[in-house]
Amino acid sequence: MELSLNGKTALVTGGSRGIGRFIAVTLADLGADVTITYVSSADAANEVKAEIESKGRRAKAIQADAVSYEKAERVISEITADWEKLDILVNNAGITRDNLILRMNEEQWDEVIDTNLKSVFNYSKAAAKPMMRNRGGSIINISSVVGLSGNAGQSNYAASKAGIIGFTKSYAKELASRSIRANVVAPGYITTEMTGELDDNILEGIKEETPLGRPGEAEEVAHTVAFLASDLSSYITGEIIRVDGGLAM
Ligand code: NDP
Repeated sequence: MELSLNGKTALVTGGSRGIGRFIAVTLADLGADVTITYVSSADAANEVKAEIESKGRRAKAIQADAVSYEKAERVISEITADWEKLDILVNNAGITRDNLILRMNEEQWDEVIDTNLKSVFNYSKAAAKPMMRNRGGSIINISSVVGLSGNAGQSNYAASKAGIIGFTKSYAKELASRSIRANVVAPGYITTEMTGELDDNILEGIKEETPLGRPGEAEEVAHTVAFLASDLSSYITGEIIRVDGGLAM
């Protein structure tokens, strides 16, 4: 059996840049039609759409703030109206607003929890009905090793990413009888614009602590997502796979 997503349709939130972009392109490489959402990078999102179409797959790039449940419903309705079904959902959209707890304001807390965690509820709930109708589906939620271990200066981010794990396990239990699987991918330090904002000293520390001794590439996360999206992982649900070079081992 080979890893193929031929005939499948996928949705990747936050697919305009970074890890989400590589996930979207990898799913298309493997045969899926792919919709991406974004919030502000329209040009980058249209580039991803064109790249997917150049592979002979159908693509959509939809501007939709992941914080809004109403928008999540609209995105999924558009996909099922045009492509009939949704097989794969990757909840990838995420942000950081780092600060020590004593300095963190309410807005920094709320923005991260809403963007990283509420968005996962929004899209997973909106996807449930079409997946049930289609008698199956695979949901992959992008957490972080920070959700497993915590990190000074990232309490809001760690809480959102740990919350994703509890949510995914509950969702997996609720929907397993409908053949809908839900799993978590927890990346370590991956080179993207998000980690580009980190302080050089913090980055050096992370590299030193990573047994494989290097940052990860977005493709390496995308490969694990592709496995979980495919039928090769048909007996895996409620699992967390770290893609972190051994960092949180
Ligand atoms: P980037 O900052 O490079 O990209 C973030 C993506 O999310 C962009 O496409 C952005 O869209 C989108 N996005 C942000 N806010 C929203 C929103 N409100 N609604 C819809 N889309 C939104 O991040 P990464 O690629 O580094 O991270 C992707 C995921 O991986 C995140 O969940 C992150 O927490 C997680 N992760 C990343 C790690 C890393 O080392 N990079 C490590 C562990 C986890 P736009 O372009 O329009 O702004």
